[in-house]
Amino acid sequence: MTTKSQTYLHHFRNIGIAAHIDAGKTTTTERILYYTGRTHNIGEVHDGAATMDWMEQERERGITITAAATTAKWKHSATGEEYTVNIIDTPGHVDFTIEVERSMRVLDGAVAVFDSSQGVEPQSETVWRQADRYGVPRIAFSNKMDKTGASFELVLSDIKERLGAIPAPIQYPMGQESEFKGIIDLVRQRAHTYTNDLGTDITESDIPEQYMDKVREMRAQLIEAAAEVDEDVMMKFLEGEEPTVEEMVKAIRKGTIEKRIFPVLCGSALKNKGVQLLLDAVVDYLPSPLEVPAIKGKLEDSEETVEFPADPDGKLAALAFKIMADPYVGRLTFVRIYSGTMQSGSYVYNATKEKRDRVGRLLRMHANSREEVTELRAGELGAVIGLKDAGTGNTLIGDGDDRVLLESIDVPEPVIKL
Ligand code: GDP
Repeated sequence: MTTKSQTYLHHFRNIGIAAHIDAGKTTTTERILYYTGRTHNIGEVHDGAATMDWMEQERERGITITAAATTAKWKHSATGEEYTVNIIDTPGHVDFTIEVERSMRVLDGAVAVFDSSQGVEPQSETVWRQADRYGVPRIAFSNKMDKTGASFELVLSDIKERLGAIPAPIQYPMGQESEFKGIIDLVRQRAHTYTNDLGTDITESDIPEQYMDKVREMRAQLIEAAAEVDEDVMMKFLEGEEPTVEEMVKAIRKGTIEKRIFPVLCGSALKNKGVQLLLDAVVDYLPSPLEVPAIKGKLEDSEETVEFPADPDGKLAALAFKIMADPYVGRLTFVRIYSGTMQSGSYVYNATKEKRDRVGRLLRMHANSREEVTELRAGELGAVIGLKDAGTGNTLIGDGDDRVLLESIDVPEPVIKL
């Protein structure tokens, strides 16, 4: 049951973007930060500035996505509801197993980016298996739909054959390669056509007649996958009735969180096509902190395990997952708060180092600005200034609380190449 003080968590998504090198992780992340910043005018983003200018300027200054966790806001295009999306930097290099483990522990869901001209490559398979191992629900983004050789069907069949997963196509591209001009949303049954090169002008319409056969075929696959996991959709499926949009979203969401189905989307991050719909899908299908298993910890000197459900009123349980040196403020400790609330100026207990430590200031990191806050609540990620001793992977709990260490995931040592 959700208490009143937990309700804000329904509007939180903590996600990583996983891809092997070159599939378009950086471009996709930049576009996400552009669109989320644009809607909400965070920092220096001006609505009047041309998209490409802004992104190129950022690239030159090299200040995008240097934070281990970036907080963005997104208003769902169909429902208008606002969400906080924390994007956790996920290492693309598969050799850094420990780094991957740390990032996987602090995210609740992931977007797996594929290059649709290549399908599922051996390296993307490794990334996928890692997410499997850590039990991370995910959606797939079939990127580079504009590129020669791009094929959405190839990605779908590779997901099935090479990854052994059931793909749920929730979109279908209108045109591929240089003809790629829009995306059909198979859940809401709407066509989104991009009418300028920047991808900022989108016309929404009924599905053009020429795609209807393909849409029926793809939608049948989708409904079948949804029926497997949800009784309401199954009933309608058996009676030959169409499920409603809400029923479809609910079923696909359930299947995604249970890791039984994997929604597949398409687009071109480089050509700014599909990123807004990708953000809508993050909100629709990836879990909130309330929908993932609560993190567990071990009580000191005992075999007893305690759980920390995501609740701002619970006992503080946080994990330091990345330490960064900042030229202005010094040592920044990135934390995920699983339970309780961390206050600026308070004392915490580092259960790993067995030392008290003081939280100085707290920051929420945005794409190109920092926001100082007085507290970080359960489900949130941010950076602490002032902690002297915290190292990556350390457990932080309330000063004076029962000593507990957050569980670690059993992974092999990183592969060191000579
Ligand atoms: P990362 O290594 O996964 O972070 O990949 P990048 O985002 O750096 O992209 C790798 C290369 O692919 C760059 O040259 C990008 O410009 C290009 N790229 C990324 N997205 C797209 C896309 O949607 N279409 C095309 N044609 N190229 C893309």
